[in-house]
Amino acid sequence: MGVCGKREFELLEKIGFVRYGGSPEELKAANMLIDELATMGVKGELEPFKVSCYDVKEVKFEVLEPFHKEYTVRGFGLSGNTADEGLTAEFAFVQQAEKMDLLDAKGKIVMVNGNINPTMYENIIKAGAVGFITFSGSVLDKEDETDIEMRTLKEEFLKFGKIPGITMRVKDAMEIVRDKATKVKITLKQDEGECDSHNVIAEIKGTQFPEEVVTFVAHYDTVPFANGVYDNGAGTVMIMEMLRHYVENPPKRTLRFVWFGSEERGLLGSKYYVEKHEKELENVVLLINVDMAGPIVGCDRAWVTADMSLVHMVEYLSKEIGHPIITVQDVYSSDSTPFADKGVPAISFARYGVGGSNPGHNRFDRIEYLSADSLQHTSDFLLKFCERIVDAVVFPVPREIPENMVEAVNKYLKKKAEKRAAK
Ligand SMILES: [Zn+2]
Repeated sequence: MGVCGKREFELLEKIGFVRYGGSPEELKAANMLIDELATMGVKGELEPFKVSCYDVKEVKFEVLEPFHKEYTVRGFGLSGNTADEGLTAEFAFVQQAEKMDLLDAKGKIVMVNGNINPTMYENIIKAGAVGFITFSGSVLDKEDETDIEMRTLKEEFLKFGKIPGITMRVKDAMEIVRDKATKVKITLKQDEGECDSHNVIAEIKGTQFPEEVVTFVAHYDTVPFANGVYDNGAGTVMIMEMLRHYVENPPKRTLRFVWFGSEERGLLGSKYYVEKHEKELENVVLLINVDMAGPIVGCDRAWVTADMSLVHMVEYLSKEIGHPIITVQDVYSSDSTPFADKGVPAISFARYGVGGSNPGHNRFDRIEYLSADSLQHTSDFLLKFCERIVDAVVFPVPREIPENMVEAVNKYLKKKAEKRAAK
């Protein structure tokens, strides 16, 4: 009985490699989840969906005048190609790429502060720039211990047109501004196309109310360069352990488990799923999402995108069993949001590392900063919560999204689409 943090940790170690959305490694992890399901006699289904992908064959960046130097850079995914001999142009640093920054940008390769968002991109295209440069990281980075961020132009950028771009280290960006580079050259060659990302789906039929469905979700993909154990191998193995528990203790309601691909690329797996399964969503009475867990030092949190009574339920349960968890009624930036957008009440659980214990979204998302005890701690609470909800005589969560949460979801999804920086 119960859930086992040690077993969760073992599976987490197995899937702890970079699993970028749409990559062969993501598919490998999906198949490992299917194999794990098979050991419990549960058949997992792979659900493919298309995502854009690219392969940079060559990228090079040089300052030509007033000095000559080549810098290590990364090509901007889906930003097209330069001519074979490269793109040579005058250089301008255009800060936030506001209109007044761009008065003199025509025909130039422009560098913006940090990352670029669709508004900045629209401005530089309208100003007639011919290439762009972004930068990532911190001046504290050691070159051999950090990665230049991998960034991609998504649809909301491409509608304004396409010009080649690169990303460089902040230290190098500062150097070329300080030393007044005037003429630069970008060489970029990449193949662009589509590939498959996958959701993994499994189900346990309810014994008493099979038509009512509680859906457990977690994304299993990672950002580039991250082993994604904290984000979100941990949630992946936690819902696997919940499934194991319910295989051994058949639930009254039907339980569906979905591991999403390409969450880090903009909730692509969950957005695809809610469109494809829209009709079935009518039967989903609650969505339970786990995204980020396992830090050795940290605290449990819950975001309720549902009626306030569910916030109170979690708070009462916390006091009843003596398990601290910070609970708010809000939107969580994760796969729960597309479901809430379709009217499915949602709750997201996480355990956040504190201080500098668990840097996320880079190569420092490492298994040594997580523990089986931490997974056990959060999983124990999740199980107690589920025991009260899944087998309730009358399902206690109203099947509606309150007005303030409808607004919050709309704001989140709209803002995300308009303002999202390129990642
Ligand atoms: Zn995540």
